[in-house]
Amino acid sequence: MESDTIAAIATPAGSGGIGIIKISGNAANDIAERIFKQRENLKPAAPEADPPLRNESHRLSYGHIYDPKTGKILDEVLLARMRANQSYTRETIVEINAHGGPAVVRAILALVLRYGARLAEPGEFTKRAYLNGRIDLTQAEAIVDIITARSQKALEIAALQLKGGLRERIEAIRDELLETLVTVEAGIDFPEEVPSAETADGLRERLKGTIAGEMDVLIRQYEDGHIYRDGIRLVVLGKPNVGKSSLVNRLLERDRVIVTAVPGTTRDIIEENLVLHGMPVVISDTAGLRQTTDPVEMAGIRKTEAAIEQADVLLFVLDAASPATEEDRWIYGRIRDKQTVVVYNKTDLIGESPGSVQQEDWAGRPSSAVSALGNTGIGELRSVLARVCEGKTPNGDDDRLVPNLRQARLLADGRNAVEAAVSAIDEGLPAELIAIDLKDGLRALDDILGNAVGADLLSGIFDRFCIGK
Ligand code: GDP
Repeated sequence: MESDTIAAIATPAGSGGIGIIKISGNAANDIAERIFKQRENLKPAAPEADPPLRNESHRLSYGHIYDPKTGKILDEVLLARMRANQSYTRETIVEINAHGGPAVVRAILALVLRYGARLAEPGEFTKRAYLNGRIDLTQAEAIVDIITARSQKALEIAALQLKGGLRERIEAIRDELLETLVTVEAGIDFPEEVPSAETADGLRERLKGTIAGEMDVLIRQYEDGHIYRDGIRLVVLGKPNVGKSSLVNRLLERDRVIVTAVPGTTRDIIEENLVLHGMPVVISDTAGLRQTTDPVEMAGIRKTEAAIEQADVLLFVLDAASPATEEDRWIYGRIRDKQTVVVYNKTDLIGESPGSVQQEDWAGRPSSAVSALGNTGIGELRSVLARVCEGKTPNGDDDRLVPNLRQARLLADGRNAVEAAVSAIDEGLPAELIAIDLKDGLRALDDILGNAVGADLLSGIFDRFCIGK
């Protein structure tokens, strides 16, 4: 694939033992040739058999980076070259292993850019690997997951996906679906050759059994396993001003959320990562739930509702210092079906016992009495939360594939399309209509794999990477 040459610093910002500048593209070798001098006395005995900078792939050369304009040496480096057919991006790659100071890696990058590369966008190396066919989209996503993995288990799941496990499963479903579509289309083109009643039964069985069945398995694996990948989703709820933001701050042990005394000020959902007794938890502070006509607040409330829907555990915050209100009961009514921990906050105003709020419907739930302001009871709340969250982690540690949210949603789309096709068959609708549903299903699976996907989707995925990957 013809494209420009990109470069970036591939190691984290700051000082370190080494800093790596990565260059990918047709001009990579030429750029290196201009700014790299191999140490003379280390050259091979017969240089003509092994010309500098064009030698074998994946070998390190020792030498110096210098500025051709001034002749000044910038650093002593090891330089690695990878041929296009063996590299990460499937383009020529040169990696310069320099000393890890921020000034030196930036100076080398500046030289590389001066001689013809442009700065890579986040994830652009991986995007090229995908566009050049080295990996499919599920594998590209697995690479983000490996970089961002916060637990051993998340890492194992990502590694399995990188090996292509999910791609194989999705491709198998896709093949079955495609064959079904071919059968249906054969019925459209040559109706007299396909015995219709028999085909209808066969089709139904295939769609419901193997195809929908396999999709269901993967969707379930997402539901069971997403906790390892994404962390437990803990959503904090309660009427305005009960101290939700203050409580989140206490749990996070720092003051990231702005606390104010005006009701309803935390309009957007703020997500933070927390580790609770070793479990990764994503805690969201919500805009609060209340009946309102203010459009800004309504938007916040819609987000809250979506967050409740996706939550694994809810933290329902109440004001221990005053009796329960209609608003508290109304909120509780909307979360009754979810796993909930009740927090009686502001106990500093009344002493330790939460008083009359404890007598309500939610009395039987796991609970904790705290003062976010006074920082009391927080340790106990953590333990209660940890116990509830532990109940949420799936046991069994088999090598299961866990689709991510994007993949799970597409699987659900595909599953709906298959269901629609089955209904169309049941209703005896014409084959053309069945074919439309089947094609929708195929498209969803293709989107998972990244077969012919749009630019929007790609940027949505690759924007999650850091620069240099
Ligand atoms: P939110 O609207 O539910 O997020 O509530 P905030 O965390 O913004 O707190 C609202 C007000 O209640 C602020 O003035 C806090 O200082 C106060 N507050 C929060 N927790 C406590 C507490 O445990 N005791 C007391 N006395 N005040 C609190």
